[in-house]
Amino acid sequence: MIEITFLGGGGGRFVTITQARATGGFFIRTSKNIYVDPGPGALVRAWRYKIDPRKIDVLFISHRHTDHCNDAEVMVEGMTMGVTKKRGVLIGSRSVVYGDEDHTPAVSKYHLDALEEVHAPNPGDRFRIGEDEMIITPSIHSDPTTIGFRLKTRFGDVSYIPDTQYFDELKKWHSGARVLIAAVTRPRDMRIPYHLCTEDIVYMLKDMKEKPEILLMTHAGMKMHFANPYKEAKFIETVTGVKTYVAKEGFRVTIGKEITVRTLRPARFV
Ligand SMILES: [Zn+2]
Repeated sequence: MIEITFLGGGGGRFVTITQARATGGFFIRTSKNIYVDPGPGALVRAWRYKIDPRKIDVLFISHRHTDHCNDAEVMVEGMTMGVTKKRGVLIGSRSVVYGDEDHTPAVSKYHLDALEEVHAPNPGDRFRIGEDEMIITPSIHSDPTTIGFRLKTRFGDVSYIPDTQYFDELKKWHSGARVLIAAVTRPRDMRIPYHLCTEDIVYMLKDMKEKPEILLMTHAGMKMHFANPYKEAKFIETVTGVKTYVAKEGFRVTIGKEITVRTLRPARFV
């Protein structure tokens, strides 16, 4: 069985600043523990759902924008038992690991040195993660080094499309995934450069050879937040026939023979 727990479903500057929706990324419990895109609040939100950063095996960071990587270093401190133990794997975009002309690396040398492995892969690269295999996928985003993934597991593939504009190849990389997580930032009629909107997802799904069993919309920006992401999800589902959910803090998807979803109650101690 695989469990995906969301520590937020928001993204973009204004949702992040206001925390109109949480921005903590998501956690996959499969044969290893994989934390994805620890945006602002990731550490605090994780503990609310009893996710212990000391148990993270792999930290995946799609790109070096604050809403995806703000809590990266503190997660590395968790993974390495407070930087006392060489442990854990970081898979991040080149901008996360090395920085770029506009950004310093998201993780300092001090933190990188504490990890067992650090990778800044290219699309098509593959990693063995416990019993699963991760294939790195491409994106076209304002951070040109942005990466996504497709995780091949014995319960089917879990695919992640992070911030990107639509491009035809996306379909090929993610066709046949059982669970598709996608950063759908904008609602209908409100496309912006370098991000997906509702129409992009509809267009992609309609044309996909093998459609996913479920779509999980995440990274709702402020315009999506006000347009009502549940309405957008319903629209996507009606037009494409793909069961569509809106990710939010505490939303858990369990993937076994069947796929089930529920919203967890946060622990009371925080
Ligand atoms: Zn971004």
